[in-house]
Amino acid sequence: MTGGSNGMIPAGDLDAAQRLRRTIQHTLGRSLHIRHLDAGSCNGCDSEIAALLNPYHDIQRLGIDFVASPRHADLLLVTGTMTRNLEQAAKRTYEAMPEPRLVVATGACAISGGVFAGAYAGRDGIGEVLPVDVRIPGCPPRPEALIHGLLVAVGRLAPFDPAA
Ligand code: SF4
Repeated sequence: MTGGSNGMIPAGDLDAAQRLRRTIQHTLGRSLHIRHLDAGSCNGCDSEIAALLNPYHDIQRLGIDFVASPRHADLLLVTGTMTRNLEQAAKRTYEAMPEPRLVVATGACAISGGVFAGAYAGRDGIGEVLPVDVRIPGCPPRPEALIHGLLVAVGRLAPFDPAA
């Protein structure tokens, strides 16, 4: 199967989850490894991310795994407004990731600071510290929105070339 001009598998009759599974195969040729970073959230977004791993959403069936080390990660999934205490850790986490690497801002706080925008202890979104590839809106975003956001993010990678 070939990808669309944006790298994503065309919709056809597939739902977003199956498109994500096939897009991961097409672009990486293996599973997608995600490092989750809480940069100062209320844990609402983190709860929705945890729901991705429950038996209903079961995103491991799509070829997605959460990893503890950024050195094993393709994608950095960041929740929460970027608190100043987390800035250096976030930069070091990003720099430890192998290229190509993706950064996804998850939820209103990560996108713009959300309800914490303008606060003295944080930034107005993670984009002030990290290069953001995809933003997933919501407070918090539902698991379905997270799956769609991951689909958009993985679609930005060049297709997997087994001869390379
Ligand atoms: S976007 Fe909403 S749910 Fe997510 S960390 Fe911010 S306040 Fe919490």
